[in-house]
Amino acid sequence: MKALELREVGAYYGQSHILHGVSLEVGEGELVALLGRNGAGKTTTLRTAMGLLPPRRGRILVFGRETTHTPPHRLALLGVGYVPEGRRVFPYLTVEENLRLSAGKRPGPFDLRRIYTLFPRLEERRHHLGRQLSGGEQEMLAIARALLLNPRLLLLDEPSQGLAPLVVRQVAEVLKALKREGVSLLLAEQNAHLALGLADRVYVLDDGRVVHAGPAAELREDPERVRALTGVR
Ligand code: ATP
Repeated sequence: MKALELREVGAYYGQSHILHGVSLEVGEGELVALLGRNGAGKTTTLRTAMGLLPPRRGRILVFGRETTHTPPHRLALLGVGYVPEGRRVFPYLTVEENLRLSAGKRPGPFDLRRIYTLFPRLEERRHHLGRQLSGGEQEMLAIARALLLNPRLLLLDEPSQGLAPLVVRQVAEVLKALKREGVSLLLAEQNAHLALGLADRVYVLDDGRVVHAGPAAELREDPERVRALTGVR
């Protein structure tokens, strides 16, 4: 069974046709990267998969179940986690309050104690307000919050954006740990180097279409091709 399947998905913002028949799959336990330049449609693809933007065409399945018209809160209960671009932590709640809002809604291995083991920095900062955290700490908090819902499939929108290289490496370590836990991951990234280093397979989007699909290893060895496909790096 696949964790996620998009079949020929067409999505619009009002009259603007953004996704043109996007098909992709995330296998159970797989880490799949979604690459593409700015505006290629990565965020729109994740939002559509998460039920935030209902598709006008095509189908979406999560763990074999039809979810084409399933709203986000139901997808969360089915085990789909979403870490949006820009983190969106609650600025005037403490780290621990931010976390407690998500905890206990779905049973599974991730509770507050597990989260503090995985992110020791969040435990150190647990009485600080969201707004007092660095960009990297906010990203960790956003990921931690999604994990407390015990997702079986996690959709991440550019977790490396705006982070220093050292912090990007920490985020990468967390994603590797989640993969080891068996969480299926779809990672939208502009940082092709990071994504290709982590992913099993990769899709490249351009102008709302899949223009490449294949094993990540293939592109890891071919930076010229990556540059041609994504226009970055
Ligand atoms: P980025 O890296 O900038 O997030 P992306 O690959 O995630 O890029 P999307 O954010 O999915 O791309 O954007 C795809 C296209 O949809 C772009 O042309 C963008 O201008 C357009 N778009 C995004 N959000 C809206 C919106 N709310 N209304 C209309 N058009 C939108």
